[in-house]
Amino acid sequence: MIEHHVSDDLLLEYAAGALDEASSLLIATHLALCPPCRAVVRDAEAMGGALLDGEPPEAMSERSPNNVLERVARPPADPAVRANTHGGADRWAGANLPQPLRGYVAETLSQRPWRRIAPGLRQLVLGTASGPTTARLFHLAPGKRIPVHSHRGLELTLVLQGTYRDECATFARGDVAQLDDSVTHRPVVDPSEECLALAVTQAPLRFRSTVMRLIQPLVGV
Ligand code: ZN
Ligand code: ZN
Repeated sequence: MIEHHVSDDLLLEYAAGALDEASSLLIATHLALCPPCRAVVRDAEAMGGALLDGEPPEAMSERSPNNVLERVARPPADPAVRANTHGGADRWAGANLPQPLRGYVAETLSQRPWRRIAPGLRQLVLGTASGPTTARLFHLAPGKRIPVHSHRGLELTLVLQGTYRDECATFARGDVAQLDDSVTHRPVVDPSEECLALAVTQAPLRFRSTVMRLIQPLVGV
């Protein structure tokens, strides 16, 4: 049962095709797991279509959702690409992932492997359009603690497997944590299971620890 959803504001921006590719990918992945949010987007799209009905054709084509939505909704990559993966964290390239994510992960893994950035923490930066936001998968070992940090701009995290908790709440498969620069937190993965999460950030995290700030450019978070 999903308890933490994408805000209505973001769903409406998504429906209007107004979000960047990384954020659209995260929201499309949440929608694949969340019927209530799908209904909100469906209603928003229907209302948008009704508003556009009275406009001349040129205006309609200008305002139709841009190709970001088409890209995140495209079918999974060719099976030959997907077969080009190995064991370990790479197994997440397969059917465990919601459909909108599969093509991105398969394509990324055909170009580069998961990168270990700390004990019990691997990341895979996904190949979304370059811009202010970055989409990455985090694979965290059971019980892994992320050092206390805050954010620059919006941070969206969608849990795909396992559970983590922070000072605010507990997040399980399908849950989205939507945090801004007012929040400082220290996520901890449940000790019983590894955790896979998709995170979209607008800028590097802001760590409290001096050591973390020093190594941050090296590990790229
Ligand atoms: Zn939802
Ligand atoms: Zn955070």
